Amino acid sequence: MSLLVEEKLEKLVQGGTETLTKRDLTDALSMGPSIDGLLARAAHTVLLRTLGPGVCPTGIIEISNSCQKNCLYCGLRRGNSTLPRYHMTVEEIVSAIENGWRHGIRSFLLQSGELLGEAHAGSVVEVLRRVAGRWGDEAGMVLSIGELPRRTLEELGKAGAHRYLLRIETSEQELYNRIHPKDGLHRFGARLQCLADLGETGWQVGSGVLVGVPWQTVESLASDLLFLRDRDIDMCGFHPWIEHSDSPLAEYRDLAPEREARVRLTLRMTALLRLMMPDIDIYATTALQMLDPDGPEKGLLHGANVLMPGLTPSKYRLNYRLFDGRTAVPDDPGRVMAAMTARCSAIGRKLMPGEPGDPLHYIRRILSVRAGG
Ligand code: SAH
Ligand code: SF4
Repeated sequence: MSLLVEEKLEKLVQGGTETLTKRDLTDALSMGPSIDGLLARAAHTVLLRTLGPGVCPTGIIEISNSCQKNCLYCGLRRGNSTLPRYHMTVEEIVSAIENGWRHGIRSFLLQSGELLGEAHAGSVVEVLRRVAGRWGDEAGMVLSIGELPRRTLEELGKAGAHRYLLRIETSEQELYNRIHPKDGLHRFGARLQCLADLGETGWQVGSGVLVGVPWQTVESLASDLLFLRDRDIDMCGFHPWIEHSDSPLAEYRDLAPEREARVRLTLRMTALLRLMMPDIDIYATTALQMLDPDGPEKGLLHGANVLMPGLTPSKYRLNYRLFDGRTAVPDDPGRVMAAMTARCSAIGRKLMPGEPGDPLHYIRRILSVRAGG
């Protein structure tokens, strides 16, 4: 007789190696609140056993809010004509990195809308060269700047970046088509191809999904988890969907779960992925914190091991408005790091600045390839 998901979770807590099936995943995602404590305990135990209590701060710098795309959920979509657009200069980006460096941050995520022009990729290459020239391997650079042609990915890799985050948003093609415009720019197949290109050109690959969008089912979320596992990703971040009042998807908010349920689903997805992929990096995202002030702690207690201090200069920050509710915060990484250190120690975890932050999953993968495994 097959085990119930609760029994499997108990066994995982005890050190078992049970595999979660699609049925287990849909059960865990759809059960009442009684599952939450056990799920968090299982994920946290597996995390501590595999990676220990350390939490890596990855400083995020939102380098431009311009975008050629028109995703139906996002405030940066090109159709949002009310948003003042900005591009940080190379000097501004390097100085934001330096600002984080002074506070011990060694892992940096550069994020932007998707821009195919040579100018954008060129300025990112220039930033990467300057970082490599100044700090060498001590700075770990992550990029999340949308779908790019393979040759641009290769150029960025040669300039010194090793990690790339490209969220699939949903692994279900039909849902993907419902939350993106039907034009040649938003093709599910192209996103899959870019994920494959990233893997083939040697990147450490991150992905993730939007949780709680209209029309999404728990079966679809369970398929997302299996997709992420089958793609053997190295990093992941789950965003609960948050309405942006000027985005077309906001009109369908009645078809989405309540915000509290979106937070709960995001935490469950985090915990389940940790159980399925014990040695990857999982980000507690700023979107989670936006919907729940205790989001970072909750994310960490459900298996996340990366926090994201914001390093975008305050004059730009409010305009990087993916969703409603973004607020201004002072440019003070020292204060942010102190608050994160306190959040971590309150739950028995330890913020570990000083690490460029390559995921253990990647390190093991490379070692196994070298050993011919
Ligand atoms: N333009 C790049 C990277 C920046 S956007 C790209 O799309 O890949 C970063 C992430 O913000 C996206 O992956 C998307 O999942 C998330 N996002 C956009 N709008 C959102 C919303 N309304 N709620 C929650 N997350 C959102
Ligand atoms: Fe652009 Fe990314 Fe927003 Fe889509 S999700 S509109 S690609 S910034």
